[in-house]
Amino acid sequence: MTTKPSSHEFQAETKQVLDIVVNSLYKDKEIFVRELVSNASDALEKLRRLQLTEKEVGDDNLELEINVSTDDTKNQLIIQDFGIGMDEEELVQNLGTIAHSGSKDFIEALKSDGEKNDALIGKFGVGFYSVFMVADKVQVFTKNWKKEASGYCWESDGSGTYQIEEVEGQRRGAKIIINLKDDFSEFAKEDRIKEIIKKYSAFVQFPVSLNGEKVNTVDAIWMRSKKDITDEEYEEFYKFQSNDYEAPLMRMHFSADAPLEINSLLFVPKRNMEKMGLFRNENKVALHCRKVLIEAEPKSLFPEWLRFLKGVVDSSDLPLNVSRETMQDSELLRKLNQVLTKRFLRFLNEQSHKEEETYLAFWNEFGVLIKEGAATDFTYKEDLAKLLRFESTALDAGKLTGLDNYMDRMASDQEEILFLFGKSRESIEAGPYLEALKARGLEVLLCTEPVDEYVMQTIREYKEKKILSADSDEVKLEKIDQDEEGESLGKKEIKALCKWLKESLVDKVSDVETGDRLIDSPVCIVGGDAMGGASARRVMKMMQGPEGGMPGMPAPSVKLQINPKNSIIRGLYELKDKDEPTAKLVANQLLDNALASANLLDDPREMIARSYQALEKITAN
Ligand code: ADP
Ligand code: MG
Repeated sequence: MTTKPSSHEFQAETKQVLDIVVNSLYKDKEIFVRELVSNASDALEKLRRLQLTEKEVGDDNLELEINVSTDDTKNQLIIQDFGIGMDEEELVQNLGTIAHSGSKDFIEALKSDGEKNDALIGKFGVGFYSVFMVADKVQVFTKNWKKEASGYCWESDGSGTYQIEEVEGQRRGAKIIINLKDDFSEFAKEDRIKEIIKKYSAFVQFPVSLNGEKVNTVDAIWMRSKKDITDEEYEEFYKFQSNDYEAPLMRMHFSADAPLEINSLLFVPKRNMEKMGLFRNENKVALHCRKVLIEAEPKSLFPEWLRFLKGVVDSSDLPLNVSRETMQDSELLRKLNQVLTKRFLRFLNEQSHKEEETYLAFWNEFGVLIKEGAATDFTYKEDLAKLLRFESTALDAGKLTGLDNYMDRMASDQEEILFLFGKSRESIEAGPYLEALKARGLEVLLCTEPVDEYVMQTIREYKEKKILSADSDEVKLEKIDQDEEGESLGKKEIKALCKWLKESLVDKVSDVETGDRLIDSPVCIVGGDAMGGASARRVMKMMQGPEGGMPGMPAPSVKLQINPKNSIIRGLYELKDKDEPTAKLVANQLLDNALASANLLDDPREMIARSYQALEKITAN
């Protein structure tokens, strides 16, 4: 047993770490407070677990708390906990050598890549040693939790050696007295420390007091078991965390052990601020490691399109000291991102079944961001597609459906999921496309937001069914018994008319044909989904904005379909031989009408001028 101070050398690797740390590789000096508070919290947590199994715990009357005090005149900061403490051997083991994995990895990385120390430092936790960035002397007074344990003082200036001495009158736990370097006297100031503790340790599960006053307010609710938490507690936490005055719309509290250990509590706010055009949502999901804050608003914890989420993610797999920069490209963060995103999308899907009304409220606010994801993120294509909602010809106006429900209603031989895009439900219903689909009993999803068509083009497929714009010529419509009565152009006449139209509308259409698409209307536009199709052209128009015309990009041409039964078409057949100039006028007007119905008419001025010409002819007769 030691009675006199014994002197020890730091293990070689420890010296290496100390050297780097002390030579100020960390820019944020203040993180040492977080490290020490986190160690204190760990020690308390270990003690709490011990108390469950051990009867004989020393100083059993002590509170499980962390006491921080500042001494301005002595230029000291003291952090004390009543945790498990350390005996002599543990002091050597824990503070004299590098046992914990973070620093080991750090050393390994240093060895293999000695050049880039600066970049490496932030990647690994060096925990306790960070105190030597700001201290010229550190004393750890400690006593192990066992009843018969003696107290010790560990002391070092961080240069290469440390001393251990047995001391009397020590209480359980650890008390770390930090003698600050002159340059860092700020850390002996109450206000400064308060700010740091509030920032990093607000959710430490044990009370933290500063100079006798409690500093942390909210406990780590996300680490608790769901059944012990009331709705009010969740709500209060949400408000605290997100600075929202309203209760959240949804919450997801979940834990996982594999592939990563995660405890997370996520909230969806009631309102999408972005939608109101106020500002861009900022993801406010704090990243914690065992209740200690790592970063309040990590940038890449979730994909961009989930930027409305609030809450906390806690993973004990994270190293405590990850710098902002290295966080961005950390493999672990990517993994976390994936697991959480998948899980959250699954949650949304569950909600859409269990809490349909809430889900629809969500969709109403944040659907636009889900669409953003569907249009930009292939990783979650299917999960996102599942969440989309549209109006449909099978439902009353205002009611929404998803792709799964659409598929449930599909006839067994229907090959494709069909949608039509238009400015509104009314405008799609008034257009020429629905009639043929209706006649065949096909359901069509009604897309009315500019981004919808782009989303559909990106997804392209859902559960092995193609998603097609109903005006695409890929959509093959089966023959139906149309009313055989009524006049129609004959085969030869149709062929001649198509040929004439194609020549008359050269540069404007790629082809003219008849099809089964039209029942009442005279003409419509059809297009493939590939470049050249009507759908692609609309998407391009959308990306170009209202001005249109991207230089160097020719407008994809379109296919015109005619209805040989329609009286205008029949009339046109006659007219082309009798009065070709007027027939051309009609042909151009028909094309523009079809383009307008397909939301493709770029500039109506020409059409208006032409319609005046037509009116003139009518009134002159
Ligand atoms: P880590 O916390 O990642 O293990 P640290 O360098 O922060 O690494 O601490 C090293 C070790 O020192 C800890 O694992 C713990 O065993 C011991 N230790 C540090 N602070 C305390 C404390 N306040 N009470 C008890 N043990 C402590
Ligand atoms: Mg630590």
